[in-house]
Amino acid sequence: MQDKVIPIRAAGTERRPAPLYDGTPLADTLGRGLRDLRISVTDRCNFRCVYCMPREVFDHEHKFLPHSAILSFEEIARLARVFVGLGVQKIRLTGGEPLVRRDLHRLVEQLARLDVDLTLTTNGSLLAKQARRLKDAGLKRITVSLDSLDDVVFKAMNDADFPVAKVLEGIDAAAAAGLGPIKINMVVKRGTNDGEIVPMAQRFRGTGHIVRFIEFMDVGSTNGWRMDDVLPSAEVVRMIAAHHPLEPIGANHPGEVADRWRYADGAGEIGVISSVTQAFCRDCNRLRLSTEGALYTCLFAQSGHELKPLLRAGAGDDELRNEIAAVWRARADRYSEIRTAETANLPKVEMSYIGG
Ligand code: SAM
Ligand code: SF4
Ligand code: SF4
Repeated sequence: MQDKVIPIRAAGTERRPAPLYDGTPLADTLGRGLRDLRISVTDRCNFRCVYCMPREVFDHEHKFLPHSAILSFEEIARLARVFVGLGVQKIRLTGGEPLVRRDLHRLVEQLARLDVDLTLTTNGSLLAKQARRLKDAGLKRITVSLDSLDDVVFKAMNDADFPVAKVLEGIDAAAAAGLGPIKINMVVKRGTNDGEIVPMAQRFRGTGHIVRFIEFMDVGSTNGWRMDDVLPSAEVVRMIAAHHPLEPIGANHPGEVADRWRYADGAGEIGVISSVTQAFCRDCNRLRLSTEGALYTCLFAQSGHELKPLLRAGAGDDELRNEIAAVWRARADRYSEIRTAETANLPKVEMSYIGG
């Protein structure tokens, strides 16, 4: 995967210092601010979800990053501080599966000292054991992915023979630890788990947890994405509303990825994330830091901007700030607005590597 990262500094040439960051709020070429940072803490995962890390590609021959290549907790925390100084208000830890990284709570402890909304996305498999520790370390909220309540369907999607009951245990442990309101991400693949939409909505209605139905996306280059496999969110809303009337509600903050709907009878809310049928690039304020310390300004990027060489060469905070500011100011990404069958086939960086 490393060869998909294009370093700012081409081999053998002198790196030109980025222009000085003058302290004014960052805006990219389309006027979008920087608010949300996603940090991938590992490119490894104990699942092989068919839409993310298909087993035929991520098999025993796949070369995951060696420990020396990935950012240490101290390096991540240092960069996070710089990002917060540039306006980041929210940090999400992700991966790969973040909870397979040893002692993750120690990173949470360091990040919790910053003035940010700190959250994490997990497949839930190791959550029952870690929920309390993460909460005590300062994690504020959590998102758990769950694609089905039916073991046969779920195992076909996670391709790791992992049962639904264990994820539900993780969700319960997170709720008991005070990591709510819990969001539950369900990737909807037409013909695979669309029969699970209404059961998922019904299972979590009235629990305070918020199920978010995500359109299957053409992230990476390995998941065999086809438009025919995408079930538009409008259809998801129609299916649920046929059982339980829904009404739209406003976003919590600008750039929120999910459109929110509440049950008319007051039993809570759901969200739909329609990155294929209703692109939301116009407000996209998200930046990703990959496991090995490269910046990606779009989930569908073909290349990133290396920060690690600078970091490990002993750069000061000012230098890092200038570099990050220059990357954001040059940003022009709007992939979902310009997606076509052709762009879907372009080689893109894998989501497990840059962080979902
Ligand atoms: N392993 C963790 C998990 O599964 O929650 C965190 C990383 S995962 C890449 C982050 C989120 O991206 C998950 O909710 C996952 O379902 C979603 N995701 C992965 N591949 C996707 C795809 N092709 N389309 C839509 N969502 C996807
Ligand atoms: Fe792993 Fe999450 Fe990707 Fe599934 S979606 S393979 S759990 S990183
Ligand atoms: Fe943001 Fe890229 Fe997604 Fe558009 S396609 S919303 S720019 S991450």
